[in-house]
Order: sequence, then structure tokens, then C-alpha cells
Amino acid sequence: MSSPNPTPLDLTLDGGALTARLVDFPSVSGDEQALADAVEVALRGHPHLTVDRYGNNVVARTDLGRAERVVLAGHLDTVPIADNLPSYVEGDLLYGCGTSDMKSGVAVALRLAATLTEPNRDLTYVFYDCEEVEAHRNGLGHLARDRPAWLAADFAVLMEPSEATVEGGCQGTLRAQVRLTGVRAHSARSWLGDNAIHRAAEALTRLATYEPRRVEIDGLEYREGLNAVRIDGGVAGNVIPDECVITVNFRFAPDRSEADAEKHVREVFDGFELTVTDFAPGALPGLSQPAAKAFLAATGGRARAKFGWTDVARFSALGIPAVNYGPGDPNFAHKRDEHCSLAAIAETEDRLRAWLTS
Ligand SMILES: [Zn+2]
Repeated sequence: MSSPNPTPLDLTLDGGALTARLVDFPSVSGDEQALADAVEVALRGHPHLTVDRYGNNVVARTDLGRAERVVLAGHLDTVPIADNLPSYVEGDLLYGCGTSDMKSGVAVALRLAATLTEPNRDLTYVFYDCEEVEAHRNGLGHLARDRPAWLAADFAVLMEPSEATVEGGCQGTLRAQVRLTGVRAHSARSWLGDNAIHRAAEALTRLATYEPRRVEIDGLEYREGLNAVRIDGGVAGNVIPDECVITVNFRFAPDRSEADAEKHVREVFDGFELTVTDFAPGALPGLSQPAAKAFLAATGGRARAKFGWTDVARFSALGIPAVNYGPGDPNFAHKRDEHCSLAAIAETEDRLRAWLTS
């Protein structure tokens, strides 16, 4: 898609106005090139930044020789537009696709990039593509794989929507299939068969009576969950089924490794045939790190656990503690009436600026 907004991005606009400009620059996943071009051009206009580009990922950094380096990161793409462009303002709220998730966060990072010429920590700004689609297309994943040196840092802030509250780490997720088998037979002579669907009852009972763990890590409480998310079984209306498959999803706190999580699920389903089909590790909040402590103090000291899986886990996999902190409201992400508070955009920028200049 060619840019409908050929005028360059003006990074001196206030955060709300810059968010509106970014939102009116459609960039559905796979169509980020025009926006990435505009971001790159805008950042190259600032001599205190070194700017690199890889695909539709733009990375800008200061090199002041500071003791710590911090990443501020945001994805440029949005989910498909739902008749919610162009953006408009109503009271304190800016409406439009991407206002919350996460062009408001990108706008704050761009404003800081343009204006913080002498930050107290070296900064790396990362703007990447294809976060809202399959993991193998994720631009941050491509940078981690092909340009890991560009991401080197002591701490990372991912500016995903979090209502201007620090959300530490993220939970891991594991999917597995529990397979029950039996003997197929005509349902008129069911005694000749062994019903695999009936055998699911015990596995489901284990799930229904499962008591999920709660655990505190760096002062944040994580709540785990183990649930059936799908069940498949049955052959025909007159056949005793010989197979039933229950798909379970385990959302686990980030103090568990992949091996721990799998071991736990296997213990719960001891005696059943179980295959792990999908796995994504969690990320520790890292709030005990010095850079994170100062960040938490500057952002008002409010922090909560992140329950979903986010790209902070990609930083964690590189050994970089990371948190989510952005002005958007996650409850309105991906919705037709997606919006973001203009006051939250200003507050997020003020707090980050205070942390990076005090
Ligand atoms: Zn997002």
C-alpha cells in the first residue's frame, strides 16, 4: 500500500496529535512499509541517533557511553481496520484502529527519541512489524535471530497497552493433547466396544478439580490455569468411538521453565497418553534489577503481573528483563471502538522522560 500521508512525520507534535497521525497512516500487518519508511526518515533527521533498518524494522540508538542501556520498543502494525479510520477525538479519548494497540506507545517512543538528546541511560528504540500475526513473521523475532546485537540492553520496556501501569514479565503457555483410545463397534452392540469418549470423563474430572497455583515473583502475583480448550471425538451417530482427544492449555507463571511446565502437566495426566503440541516460555518480570527499580519508582510504583503472552518473552529469551508499559487500554485493543486516553499518552511520556532524565 502506498502512503496516503506523504508528508513527513512531525515528531514535535504532542503525543496525542502524533498518535493521530500514526493512526491515520494505515499499517495492517504485512503493510507496514510506508509507515516504517516514514519512521526511518523522521528518526534520521536527528543527529544524536544512529538509525538502522532491517526489513520493515527500524532501530535507533544513542551512543553516549552511559552505564546502562534501555530498549523502548513498539510494533508498527495493527489488526485489520474495522471501519474505524480516520481517527477522531471525543473529549479525552482518541478513537481509531491502533490508537490503543499500540500507536500511542509508538508515538511516545518517537517523541522521546526525537527530544531526549542527553538521556541518563543509553537508549535503543525498536519499531517492528508483524506483531499481530503468526509468530514466525514477527519483526522483533527476526531482529533477535538475525541482528541480536541491535537489541543488546540491560532492560526493555515494551510499550504495549497497559493503561499506563507497569505489567511485569508474562506467563508462559503450553498446549497439549490428551488422547483417549477405545474399541470401535456398532452402537447397537456396544458391549463389543470400549467408548473412548466415556474414558475422557476421568481426564476432565482431573481438570475440573485442578487447583491452580498462585505465586508471587518480584512482588507480583501470577495466577496459573490449566483448562480444556477443545475436545474432539465421535465417528458417526451409530458408532462407539475409539478415539477422543482433549486439547488442554496450561498458562504458567514465569518461574517455571519449559521442562517444569511439561513435567507438571504430565503429572496431572499421569496414566494418560499426552503430547505437547505448542509451547511459548514466560518472562520473569525482572523488577529487582537496578534499571527496573528506578523505572518502577519513576512510573508511580504501580505494577501488576501480565497474564497474556507478549513479546517481552523475546527479550527475556535474550537475557533482557522486560516489562509492558504503555498508554493504551488493553480492553479496547482490536475492537471497533478502539480508543486511547490523551491524558494517559501525556502521562506515559512524562513519566518515562522523568526516569530517563532525572
Ligand atoms: Zn500490540
